Amino acid sequence: MNSISIPLSIQIVIDDVGWWTGKDGSKENGPFRTGIARDHHPADYEAIAELGKRLGMRPQAAFIISEWDRTDRLRSLPDATHRGERWSNPWKSSPLLDEAAKILRNESRHIELALHGLGHEYWGSGAMDRAEWHDGNGRMRPEGSVTGHLDAFAALLEENDLGPFPESFVPTAFYHRFGGEGGGLSGILERYGIKYMSTPFSMMHRSKRPESELFGVDGSLITVNRGDDLCGWNRIAPDPRGEIEGPVCGMHWPNVLHPDPEKNGDVVRRWVDLLEPYRQRFDTMLAANTAEGFSQLIYRWGVALREEPSGCVLDFSGLSGCRPPGLLDYFTIKVKRDKHIVSSSSEISLFENASLSTPEYRTVVVKRRGSENSALIRMANGGEP
Ligand SMILES: [Zn+2]
Repeated sequence: MNSISIPLSIQIVIDDVGWWTGKDGSKENGPFRTGIARDHHPADYEAIAELGKRLGMRPQAAFIISEWDRTDRLRSLPDATHRGERWSNPWKSSPLLDEAAKILRNESRHIELALHGLGHEYWGSGAMDRAEWHDGNGRMRPEGSVTGHLDAFAALLEENDLGPFPESFVPTAFYHRFGGEGGGLSGILERYGIKYMSTPFSMMHRSKRPESELFGVDGSLITVNRGDDLCGWNRIAPDPRGEIEGPVCGMHWPNVLHPDPEKNGDVVRRWVDLLEPYRQRFDTMLAANTAEGFSQLIYRWGVALREEPSGCVLDFSGLSGCRPPGLLDYFTIKVKRDKHIVSSSSEISLFENASLSTPEYRTVVVKRRGSENSALIRMANGGEP
C-alpha cells in the first residue's frame, strides 16, 4: 500500500545512567562505568529529560544503581561490586543524590528508568568478570545471585524514592541468552514485572530463534534488536552522524553529555537534529515511550495491509499467537492526504493524532477492539470532501 504505512518506531535507549564516578575502573578490577574524565552531575539527568521533551519522547535510562547505595547494603552481595564485603559507597552522603532523584521524579514523563544492573560486572570469585547477568559464553549467573541483585535493585530504588520497579531491561555488556533453559533470565525478569528488553542481536546467544531479526518474544518478554550504536560507548560530546536502521537509537550516557555539564544542552541539540527527521518521514516515527514503540514494531511485522476498491484491509492473522503482556492494543499508521478516511469497520477505532500529522499525511492511531483477524478502513480518493 502506498497510501498507508505502519511506520517503524524508534525508541532511545541510554545505557549506564546512574553512575556517579565517571572513571573506567576496568583496569583495576573495577567496573567499566561511563569512562569519562569527570564525575556525573544532576545536570546529566536534565540532559535526558531535555532530549525527551524536545522530541516528545520518553527515552530509556538503563540504570546502574550501586553508587546510590546509602547504607552499604551491597556488602551482603559480595559478587555485586569490586569491593565485595568491604564495599563502601563513596557517594552515599552526597547531596547530589537527592538533587538527581528529584529530577528523575519530576521528569518521569520524559525519562523512563530501566534496569541495567547494580555494579555492571560480576565479582563471583573476587576478580572482575563480564558481565552482571550472563558471562561471555551466554551462561546465566547463578539464579540466587540474579534474584539477589534484582531484590537489591528494588530496595535501592525505594531507598532513593526513584519510583516503581522498571518494565524495561538492557543486559550489561549486552551479554544475554535468548530462550535460556527453564525460562532463563527472561523468566526471572518477568516475575519482577519486566516486559521489554533490548540488546544487539548480533551479540545475543540464542537457544531458540526470535520471531524476526528485529524482535523476538522470550517467555513473555518483548526482546528488541538494538542494532549498532552510532557512537563509541565512552565518547563524550560527539557530533552523531549516520542512519538509524532499526527500532532503537542506542547510546551510552556520555554520548549525550558535555565535559562541562552546563553545556550538555549543546550535545542534546545535536541528537534532536539527528532524530527529528525520523518523526517527519512517512515510514518511520519516534516512539512516545517503550510500550508504544516496541508494540508498534510487532504490529508492523504482523499486520498486512491490502488495498481494495473500498479502502484498506488490515489483516491481523500474522499476529496470531503473539500476545505478550507488553503488547498494547493500539498502533499508529500514517495515511497520505491523497486519500481520506470515510469510516472503519467495527473491529477497530481510529483517532487522528493531529499534533503528529503533516501537510503530506495524517497520523492515525488504530485501536483494536477485539481479536478479529481483519478490519477495514473505508477510504476515498482526494482530500477531505
Ligand atoms: Zn552498560
